[in-house]
Amino acid sequence: MLDIRGQFIAGHSVGGDEAPEPVFNPATGEEIASLASASRAQVDASVAAAEKAFAIWSKMPPKERSLRMLKIADRIEEMADEFAQLEMLNCGKPIGTAKAVDVGNTVDVFRFFAGAARTVPGVPAGEYRQGFTSMLRRDPLGVCVGIAPWNYPLMMASWKIAPVIAAGNTVVLKPSEHTPLTALKLAEVCAEFLPEGVVNVVTGNGANVGARLVQHPRVRMVSLTGDVATGRKILEAVAPTIKRTHFELGGKAPVIVLADADIAAAVEAIAEGGFYNAGQDCTAACRIYAHADIHDRLVADLQAAIEKIEMGDPSVPGTALGPLITARQRDRVDGFVARAAADTPAEIVTGGSAPDRAGFYYSPTLIAGARHQDEIVQKEVFGPVVSVTKFADDAQALNWANDCDYGLASSVWTRDVGKAAEFSAKLEYGVTWINTHSVNVTEMPHGGVKSSGYGSDLSIYCLEHYMTTRHVMIKH
Ligand code: NAD
Repeated sequence: MLDIRGQFIAGHSVGGDEAPEPVFNPATGEEIASLASASRAQVDASVAAAEKAFAIWSKMPPKERSLRMLKIADRIEEMADEFAQLEMLNCGKPIGTAKAVDVGNTVDVFRFFAGAARTVPGVPAGEYRQGFTSMLRRDPLGVCVGIAPWNYPLMMASWKIAPVIAAGNTVVLKPSEHTPLTALKLAEVCAEFLPEGVVNVVTGNGANVGARLVQHPRVRMVSLTGDVATGRKILEAVAPTIKRTHFELGGKAPVIVLADADIAAAVEAIAEGGFYNAGQDCTAACRIYAHADIHDRLVADLQAAIEKIEMGDPSVPGTALGPLITARQRDRVDGFVARAAADTPAEIVTGGSAPDRAGFYYSPTLIAGARHQDEIVQKEVFGPVVSVTKFADDAQALNWANDCDYGLASSVWTRDVGKAAEFSAKLEYGVTWINTHSVNVTEMPHGGVKSSGYGSDLSIYCLEHYMTTRHVMIKH
């Protein structure tokens, strides 16, 4: 068992004062740590520490904040192997991608926002009315709370910390109770370079620790990446204190493969983007709409590609598919697949069961013949499951793609640039990829519309969410 203290408050690691949460290695099913949760008093202490630090941090010139964030990025990079090992242990992520993607993106996010801190955009000061000079201020908000999910614990921690502190705020982060380990380590790294209390981490479940934190009257903003239901609960919880919110709430990405598409490229991207991180990705390429002319070939080629995906021990180089995060998540995924097979005309082309081995694995699964309105097409499965639905014409594909509660990510596959432009304009999604899927860059916003939430992570636009825009007017 790892000996880890569950809270990082005011620059110090401390044990929690309430009931422990077990932490598992999903690749073996073994318990690897047990972290006592934060008590109400510890939640209060974390907010008080962040509030005290705000007085110092918010007054520091952007250049100084930026330099410190660059040092954090360098230190994470130096510790890349350590972070990747811990992320693999806690999430079952293949070690290669844990290092290249999870740690690599975290480093990049700190570097990007270190630069962004110094280049906050805005309209120029000027005389917008004769005899008066107006100027714009962008000021930090105060103590911000970040609530993170379990699918990318380190990356999500960096998305909830880097832009927040770049803007001059301080933060209390609550990682998922399933995956607190790398966030706690990240807080230790941050504390090497930041004033005490700028970054705090409290752990425990959502109903107790999360709920206390978001209701706290001294907290100015809550940023959540998580489930739609959690977003609703947080909106209700913050209503009495009128806090700003920023929500990334999942998705069900349509992948529209038109008749003229490069099928081989689409197959490669779906086999990658539908099963990356065991499908536990809010932009996963999971809801395929295939034109009738190419449908059968696409299904056959996808089956062949999916059956080649290496599932196994995440510490072995070459493993592409690790386990799901918990036994509960694996059973939930299995429930979706079983209902699709039993209640709809859909057919399981490959996969469709949990392999007989230790850990929380689920075989990569392809479902064909699902109808647009079926649960497997409409609901977020968050597992290694891809469905294919046949469409007759482009208008039907567009209607079906938009007829979904979610609006995070989408992709269109075509060689016709006019069609690509038309679909991009009409798709109601925060991201639309053309002839690719699930490729992110830190410079561009990542966020959704409809039930997928509002606000965006990454990019210069993200900074605006963590700042207040104020007008100062001087009479001549
Ligand atoms: P979840 O909503 O169950 O939990 C997310 C976090 O919220 C956890 O830290 C949890 O403890 C906390 N929480 C739960 N109830 C709370 C409450 N009442 N008050 C305060 N905090 C509370 O989500 P999850 O199961 O950890 O993650 C999976 C979900 O996250 C999926 O729906 C997925 O699509 C979504 N997600 C979205 C994005 C995105 O960028 N849009 C990225 C990753 C994950």
